Amino acid sequence: MYLKTLTLRGFKSFASTTTLRFEPGITAVVGPNGSGKSNVVDALTWVMGEQGAKSLRGAKMADVIFAGTALKPALGRAEVSLTIDNSDGVLPIDYTEVTITRTMFRGGGSEYAINGTPARLLDIQELLSDTGMGKQMHVIVGQGQLDAILSATPVERRGFIEESAGILKHRRRKERALRK
Ligand code: ATP
Ligand code: MG
Repeated sequence: MYLKTLTLRGFKSFASTTTLRFEPGITAVVGPNGSGKSNVVDALTWVMGEQGAKSLRGAKMADVIFAGTALKPALGRAEVSLTIDNSDGVLPIDYTEVTITRTMFRGGGSEYAINGTPARLLDIQELLSDTGMGKQMHVIVGQGQLDAILSATPVERRGFIEESAGILKHRRRKERALRK
């Protein structure tokens, strides 16, 4: 399973349709400051169902819709499609290629689709759970966090790993229980 393409339409700074193609392995996105690199990462988390405006670096959810520039008027909707290669069948669905689409209109909520068929957020979450991609399963290291990780002490670094692996909450629970 790997990410094949990501298509952005009216999402943040990507006013016109933009498709990014990925290959298996490591992908690097490079570009000058403000060119939209972090917006690409925001699009990835958004299409997988992110519900927090703050996690998307905005004040409200509609901030993901292209807000217009001096040259281009604002748009009324944002749409992101993520195509995942599923030839190894990791996603529990009978397709070798799976496209998840999320659309949002300025006035209303989000619509989701799996391979063009309308779906609920729950369907997206269930599709991605147990694949390492779903909510709180993938790990996104934010800008500036990398420096913190590199300069961390071994104990702090262990904390980062424990948090990513989701075991920090169990450690805290254990510590609380032992205090009692
Ligand atoms: P850096 O190297 O500084 O981290 P970056 O490539 O990560 O830069 P982004 O944060 O992805 O840059 O993009 C920032 C740009 O996206 C800003 O110019 C901002 O105005 C634009 N932008 C964000 N949201 C919207 C929106 N809703 N409509 C139009 N433009 C937007
Ligand atoms: Mg950035």
